[in-house]
Amino acid sequence: MATSQHCELKYTIKTYGCQFNYSDSERVATVLENAGYKPVKRENEANLIVFNTCSIKQKAEDRVYGLMPLMKELKKTNKKLLVAITGCMVRKSSTQKSIEKDPLVETLPEVDLVFRIEDLAILPNLLLEASPKLPLELRKEGDGDTLRNYFKINPKSVSNFQSFVPIARGCDKFCAFCIVPYTRGRERSRPMSEILKECELLVSKGCKEITLLGQNVDSYGLSFLDREEKRFRSLKPGGKIYFTRLLEEVDKLKFRGLKRVRWTSPHPRDLTDDVIDAVAHLKTQMPYIHLPVQSGSNAMLKKMNRPYTRERYLELIKKIRKKIPGCAISTDIIVGFCGETKDMFNETVELFKEVRWDMIYFSPYSMRKFTAAHRTMKDDVSPEEKRRRWHVINNLLHEISLENHKKFEGKTVNVLVEKYLKGGLCEGYSEHYKRTQFPVKSAAEGKKLIGQIVPVKVKKAFKWNLTGELKK
Ligand code: SF4
Repeated sequence: MATSQHCELKYTIKTYGCQFNYSDSERVATVLENAGYKPVKRENEANLIVFNTCSIKQKAEDRVYGLMPLMKELKKTNKKLLVAITGCMVRKSSTQKSIEKDPLVETLPEVDLVFRIEDLAILPNLLLEASPKLPLELRKEGDGDTLRNYFKINPKSVSNFQSFVPIARGCDKFCAFCIVPYTRGRERSRPMSEILKECELLVSKGCKEITLLGQNVDSYGLSFLDREEKRFRSLKPGGKIYFTRLLEEVDKLKFRGLKRVRWTSPHPRDLTDDVIDAVAHLKTQMPYIHLPVQSGSNAMLKKMNRPYTRERYLELIKKIRKKIPGCAISTDIIVGFCGETKDMFNETVELFKEVRWDMIYFSPYSMRKFTAAHRTMKDDVSPEEKRRRWHVINNLLHEISLENHKKFEGKTVNVLVEKYLKGGLCEGYSEHYKRTQFPVKSAAEGKKLIGQIVPVKVKKAFKWNLTGELKK
């Protein structure tokens, strides 16, 4: 029988990549703790290390491969150490003893088992296959449903006031540069009732801010429809898309204490007026939208298989700013994608000058195996030129970010306090998703404020954050 004192059952999870993976790791923690494991922080204290991996870029995968020598070393001193991999790098749940193995298990002797996140419910069985004497408590994760739908496993929330809730998995968009549709599969939405149940549970435990997660949140619910209905839906004027209806339902939790709802990411093709109206009118919606553009050149967007134009994107920005005055907007940009000329890149720079995004998450393009770009295009922008373009965007971002932050000087923002920093400062995020710091009298006062939403008068704006004083 497994007990919490059992020395073999200590785990740590190392998570890489997007918020999806962080949210999945919370469910992995539930399964492990139900099996008798206890969490530890450091790898050298653990008998099970789980890597929750990302494969959006080759670099992200290389980071995990690069950790294998360390695993080999740790295994020399801890013979009972098991190494597991999950997340986007895994194709087939298996162990070193399985007949049909995932390529990771085949090629990495340090790895004892890998599991697709969809197979999370059978993780204890895989652990036992890898190490039959483990004293695991084999408890059924709910009912048979969890075998088909791992979302039914309740996450072990890291925070009691902030949570991520996945609303859909996978992606049907097949952008030429992206591996996600191949690693996470086709888009599948969770039933609304299941999402609401999870949100209700979180709010009942004191959660104040929920972030709804999906590769394309605004196509939420499309997987419920057949092909004919999908076509009809895209032609239907007016009406509310499923995602708006979900936002309205989650908003009702404000009566039980929910204060903020964020979501990421929408796709510019699917963002409809009713979503923008919902952000403008629903109490729990925050004035911040992350709207990935990727490029300001129509020719590039076409090559990237992003089915919208620069003009459509600008139209959306105009609508957002009209209906939600002062709304903060951020984006994603790739510089140096296959065939991007200097003129095409300049169109992105011009778009930046026009939209003046609050934040840009940008990176030089790097070819990813198995994507459409890998099969059909040439990575023909030199590394030096990619670097130059990266610096152009970066310099502009420094300038525009400060300009956007300056607008808050002298104003009061409401900050959800996330942490107390050494040096007498509290830190959290404002409604507009601005990182904000303010001094407190003592560590005790600072720690007491964690999880609360407090008004802060902004005194000074910096490029990447605001500072101010707590308003009494
Ligand atoms: S929308 Fe494009 S970039 Fe986003 S996950 Fe889908 S394929 Fe990848």
